[in-house]
Amino acid sequence: MNASVIGHGDDMTGARPDLQVVREGTEYFLRKLRELTDDRFDGPSLLPGWTRRHVAAHVAYNALALLNLVEWAETGVEKPMYESPAARDAEIEQGVALTPAALRELNNQAATKLDTAWNALTDKAWRAEVRTRMGQPVAASATVWMRTREVWLHAVDLNTGSSFTDIPADCIDHVAANVIAAWRARQAAEQIPNFVLMPDDRPGPWAVGSEDAGDAVILTGSAAALAQWATGRGAAGVATESGTPAPRPPAWL
Ligand code: ZN
Repeated sequence: MNASVIGHGDDMTGARPDLQVVREGTEYFLRKLRELTDDRFDGPSLLPGWTRRHVAAHVAYNALALLNLVEWAETGVEKPMYESPAARDAEIEQGVALTPAALRELNNQAATKLDTAWNALTDKAWRAEVRTRMGQPVAASATVWMRTREVWLHAVDLNTGSSFTDIPADCIDHVAANVIAAWRARQAAEQIPNFVLMPDDRPGPWAVGSEDAGDAVILTGSAAALAQWATGRGAAGVATESGTPAPRPPAWL
């Protein structure tokens, strides 16, 4: 486990983040949305029950939700990402009713607003504490990673040919570290197995518990394949020690 990877972007230090990585991811997602012809918006995404429209709407509203946190950090006045889980879902359904052109434009505008707000944040505001949708306190700087992960994973979810191998290596490592950390925090309460992910193209391993323990459930594959499995997006390219199919992963978030 690479501690520097875990800490980057989702810790409480609140250092002014480099916006380059999130801008690359945003540009990638927006490009995929531009390339997606109108007639394909109703097709299935890789997320159960969601069309590509749902993904497009969700990613746009996610930018606006993170913008709320940025404004919260700036003003000190609490502004949650979403009013409630129901409000979040209702918003997505509203977005789904938009035309493809409007959905693309909504995404462009939301991404620009968020980027503009980040750009204007003071050092003090980057360190200000806000809370994620799950109620976790984080520095405002964490919103940059939250958005980075969102645009890359959902670009794949659009189901237009992108795969985890298109996601930058740093981002893959960071996602894997996030999932492992989440599972570790819930391991006792939810009896999450001691998954030990051994990427064949990284130093690794990424382990919930001790990699040497007798209860280790060892999974191998490329870092991209393991991250794809860990985020609940299928077990292609992931092998177990015994040769049995990879188990279903626990929920991440
Ligand atoms: Zn999302």
